[in-house]
Formats: sequence, structure tokens, C-alpha cells
Amino acid sequence: MIDYLRVKFLRFFLLAIATLLICLGLAAFQQEPIEASDTSETTIASTAWQYGSFPVENFQSYTSPFGYRISPIDGKRQFHNGLDMAAPLGSYVRNWWTGKVLEVSDGTACGTSVKIQSGGWQHVYCHLDGHVETAANGRYLLDRSGGIQIWQGQELPVGARIGRVGMTGRTTGPHLHWTLRYNGSYVDPALVLKEMFKQQA
Ligand SMILES: [Zn+2]
Repeated sequence: MIDYLRVKFLRFFLLAIATLLICLGLAAFQQEPIEASDTSETTIASTAWQYGSFPVENFQSYTSPFGYRISPIDGKRQFHNGLDMAAPLGSYVRNWWTGKVLEVSDGTACGTSVKIQSGGWQHVYCHLDGHVETAANGRYLLDRSGGIQIWQGQELPVGARIGRVGMTGRTTGPHLHWTLRYNGSYVDPALVLKEMFKQQA
């Protein structure tokens, strides 16, 4: 009888541990990304931005800021890791800073996109027109009617046209979703644009 209770208790104990571990695992998986740290804000203020390019032509308005918000699609609270900039469909998107194409991608919520590395900075451009193709010598973003072909690994000068505003991925209207990361941490693109305008004025 005592052995039976002991086994029952042990089984319960193990089950509890397993449940706890699964919960912890899920929590880690769903952990929200780190927001811009003080370090990156200091970096923004002390960086020379006079060579930066505004990332989209025919800019109309900022439609959604960086940070926590209620999703316009499912009504849930979520972290918006970039800045939304409305522009008419087909408007050219420009490379913000000289760098190298880390990745071209399509088929995710970000849609057809380009990720560029410039020193410690990563800049991502989402919801572009076109799609990604794979060739023997690599992957590239193709937007034929926009005359755009951007290869993974390619070096791009600042201001280069790297795509056009499209409707790919999760989007309710034509806009550029622009994400910035510095040493892995998200940075509010509006802070960077503010400094750019201050220095370029
Ligand atoms: Zn967005």
C-alpha cells in the first residue's frame, strides 16, 4: 500500500515537473523582443547621419509607430518592431545606408523583403513587390516591372533603389515596414530619422 502511494506520488511529482518545464519552454519561446536600450539611443545621438537616405519615395505619412500596439489585424497586443510608412503602390524603396544584402526573403508576414547589414546595424524592408528566386549562384529578389534584381551578398550604396512598395505579407494597405536593429536590439526608426533630419537640415 505504501509502495503504491509512493509510486503514485512520484508519478504526480514527475508530471508536475514536466508541465512546469513545458510552460517555461513556451514562455521562453513567446518572450517578447528586447526594445531599444539606452546604449543604442546614445549611439543614435552620437552617430553622424548626414549620409543616410530616407527609405521611401513618394512618402505620404507614418501610419504605425514602433513599439507595443493593438494589432489592426487580430486585435491582440503585440510588439511592432518597425515603423510603417505609407506610400502609393509601386513607390521605390531606397537603401537607407551603404551595406551588404544579408538576406532576401518572401512568404512570411514581412512579405517580400530585403535585410541589409551596415556595420552593427541591420535594416529590413518589408511588404515589397516581387518575389524571391533561387539560382545556381544564389538567391535574389526579383521585381521585373520595377526593374529590380537584388542578390543576397550584394553590396549596395546608400540611396540605391532596392524594391518597390507592394502588398506582400501581412498588410492592410500599401506601406513600407522598416525595421532597424543595432547589435541585435530593435531601435525605433523614428529616433534615427529625427537625428538624420536634424543633421541634414
Ligand atoms: Zn509594420
